[in-house]
Amino acid sequence: MIVAGGYGVGSLANFKLLFELAEVLGGEVGATRAAVDAGFIGHERQIGQTGVTVRPKLYIACGISGAVQHRAGMDQSAKIISINTDPKAPINAIADYTIIGSVTDIIPKMIRYYKANSK
Ligand SMILES: Cc1cc2nc3c(=O)[nH]c(=O)nc-3n(C[C@H](O)[C@H](O)[C@H](O)COP(=O)(O)OP(=O)(O)OC[C@H]3O[C@@H](n4cnc5c(N)ncnc54)[C@H](O)[C@@H]3O)c2cc1C
Repeated sequence: MIVAGGYGVGSLANFKLLFELAEVLGGEVGATRAAVDAGFIGHERQIGQTGVTVRPKLYIACGISGAVQHRAGMDQSAKIISINTDPKAPINAIADYTIIGSVTDIIPKMIRYYKANSK
């Protein structure tokens, strides 16, 4: 499982939420080039045309618009969940599930509910 963050995650501090979710799920953290360029995370985690290509069972795209150069590295994921404040974000067109809302509201809830419902 990969929890990937984009520019919409907003800050280095908010990226910690993604690491927390990835840890409870037993997954890893990835990012877009815009998040790397903003200094939220290192380039080694960049996914896409000029990063790595991934094909996880679950890809949770957080604050990612879904540019073609990003999609090239992740569109073969088995299931995609998008979390975005914009219902019209292009990533939603390839997502199996879309959650409309801010990553800072949604991710803490996902962590809480996952912990409460897993044995
Ligand atoms: C030659 C070339 C190679 C490239 N290679 C890559 C590559 O390898 N990988 C890559 O990723 N990009 C690559 N890019 C860049 C790519 O074109 C995009 O600019 C980049 O993917 C956009 O990143 P983003 O989705 O994080 O940012 P944005 O496009 O800025 O999208 C941010 C998204 O966050 C949403 N948002 C904002 N606030 C919140 C919030 N609080 N909660 C939830 N959602 C929110 C917005 O609605 C928006 O959809 C390349 C570009 C070029 C020209």
